[in-house]
Amino acid sequence: MVCIYCGNETKVVNSRHQKRINQVWRRRKCLACQAVFTTLEAVNTEQALQVRHGKSLQAFSRDTLLLSVYDSLRHRKTAVSDATALTETVLSALYPHIQDASIEKVVIAEITAAILERFDKIAATHYRAFHPTD
Ligand SMILES: [Zn+2]
Repeated sequence: MVCIYCGNETKVVNSRHQKRINQVWRRRKCLACQAVFTTLEAVNTEQALQVRHGKSLQAFSRDTLLLSVYDSLRHRKTAVSDATALTETVLSALYPHIQDASIEKVVIAEITAAILERFDKIAATHYRAFHPTD
């Protein structure tokens, strides 16, 4: 990866695997201007994961998940940051349920509702109203 400030080569000076959210964090340093910045490596779920719903298959969208979580948290002042963090929590909870690179739509809804329930009961009720699982 090239430097975001001057475009020259960079080297990795530190890296950490964040197991809980399945990301690799890397601190990079520019060999020319010495600037330091951080990169995050994560699975490209849009390309790697399909959602099963009846007989249909569609690409998983992290953005769709984030928006549905955000929508349920609108009553909170910290809705954006809460939704971002909870989306990562949902994603890491989804990984064990992936089979043949796909996951049932209802499983995503159940897991998302359960995680919202622990965080904010009003949000969970709101989410369930728009994502019925039965
Ligand atoms: Zn540079």
